[in-house]
Amino acid sequence: MNAPRDPGLVRQAELAELQACLAAAAPAAGERPAAAVEAARRARTLAGRLHRHDDEARAGVWLCTHLLRLGRHDELLRAAPRAQLLLDAPELLAERRELLRLVTLAGSEAGIFDVALASAHELVRSTVGDVRDGAALTASLALAVCFERMGDSWQAVRLLEQALHDHGTRDADRVAAEPVMPLLMATNALCATAIGILHRLLDVGTGAEVGEVLQLARRAGEQARALLPGLPDATYRVAVLGNLGEVMLYQGEVDAAEPLLRESHGLAVERGLVAHGWRVQASMGAWLLARQAPARALETMECLIVEMGADAPPQTDVRARHVAYRACRALGRHADALAHFEAVERLERRRTMAQLRAQSQLFVTRTEAQQAQWQAEQARLEAQHHRERAAEAVARAERDPLTGLGNRRHLAARCAELLPAAQRSGQPLALAQMDIDRFKPVNDRYGHAVGDTVLVEVARLLRENMRTGDVLVRHGGEEFVLVLPGLGLEAAAEVCERLRERFAAHHWLAVCGTPLDLTVSIGVAAAPPYELATLLQRADEALYRAKDGGRNRVCLGSC
Ligand code: GH3
Ligand code: MG
Ligand code: MG
Repeated sequence: MNAPRDPGLVRQAELAELQACLAAAAPAAGERPAAAVEAARRARTLAGRLHRHDDEARAGVWLCTHLLRLGRHDELLRAAPRAQLLLDAPELLAERRELLRLVTLAGSEAGIFDVALASAHELVRSTVGDVRDGAALTASLALAVCFERMGDSWQAVRLLEQALHDHGTRDADRVAAEPVMPLLMATNALCATAIGILHRLLDVGTGAEVGEVLQLARRAGEQARALLPGLPDATYRVAVLGNLGEVMLYQGEVDAAEPLLRESHGLAVERGLVAHGWRVQASMGAWLLARQAPARALETMECLIVEMGADAPPQTDVRARHVAYRACRALGRHADALAHFEAVERLERRRTMAQLRAQSQLFVTRTEAQQAQWQAEQARLEAQHHRERAAEAVARAERDPLTGLGNRRHLAARCAELLPAAQRSGQPLALAQMDIDRFKPVNDRYGHAVGDTVLVEVARLLRENMRTGDVLVRHGGEEFVLVLPGLGLEAAAEVCERLRERFAAHHWLAVCGTPLDLTVSIGVAAAPPYELATLLQRADEALYRAKDGGRNRVCLGSC
């Protein structure tokens, strides 16, 4: 029987194994892709078990890197979402972008363009305004590859040329300090994209068009080759030399192309870069055709087509079959030529369909997103409108229409806040009730309109003499209530006394065309108690005394 294992020791052993697997899975480690895939998978599992999410995310991204190198695109697309879920943290931004790039490339290669385009757009969005380490260039590159695989090579070329231009016009010191990888990848992609255009032009383009696109491809390819020395990873050597060899071949430099194609193919086989190897093999078929060896070209392509089987990347498949078609024609085997031609046609039609579907899907998704956004905006506006209307209704319900002052309801609402707050903080608070003296005769003598004008003017005068934080309401016909937080009985009495004097001295002639002699009486009460009803009652009693005492005076309520 096995002895029970110490969980601490198990964890330690797993941590050590995790470190070893991560080291082997890192793309820069130079491990062969197939072995690196296994290391990345193991690292992902161990990291998950040990709750090391960053390591798990990194291992997931590296797994995708190696799967892409192996051309196992479907597997990559299945593995990516799990890693994506773990890449939310800002410090993992570089990894998140790398994963988006890998998904874009795999989706493009596998013809799953909706996934590829969505991923590319997210990648581009994530790099807007970021001038570090060629991030924007890398993102444009991914989008360009996507366009290229969808059949829009021209768009891809435009994107790449623009991105390379932007990249080249940045701060020179910064550029010098940067890794060459993004630039290498972009120049190589520009070369590959131009080759894509070349293949579309082969049977239909004019000599000038073909020559121009070949020149573009050559320039970009040479630029990429110049960046190769010093790169530890041979993967790009495979791609760059393969592309450049193909360009030279179509430029008629058949002899010069051969060593490049051979080195690229040899490296691809040696490093297990299956998809790259296939692609170069298709170019070698074209090279054999150029060498006037159609039988060998056909044989090589038929082997390649069988070897690729269902895993054939569509673009390589098209190129291999196109070479086979031309070889059959050169050999006078017209029925076989037709079969290969039909296969090319079928593949092209399928690609076009996938492209249209992806574009339509993207359009639908975008339209739905816009619609949802629009509906959300409508709902937000409606809610805001309702809120504003409700607030208006509350404000209206608490306002006196004639003077614009608050009413009894407003007084109750404000006091419900002010009184407890004053009580809690132990602050004094005074309430005054003011009534216009002998107002009825004004109405009777000059009419209701003049009475109203007087009321509006009284409100204005009161407002003018209040502090912010005071509450002022029209409590009834010609009665006003003032709440004065922070003031005790004596201080409030002084304020009211000044108000009284102010009214007595006011020139009414200018206001209502009549030389009125108006005065006010005021009753003042102060908390405690911090109760509105009691304060109102005490102020009212004081007001009554003021009236009784001859009007035009301020009286204090009992405490
Ligand atoms: P006192 O000094 O005792 O307060 O005498 P008074 O005439 O002011 O007292 P009374 O309460 O008898 O009269 C109040 C008058 O206020 C009655 C009414 O004509 C007038 N009034 C009340 N509301 C309004 C209003 O909205 N507009 C106008 N123009 N007058 C109003
Ligand atoms: Mg009155
Ligand atoms: Mg009155």
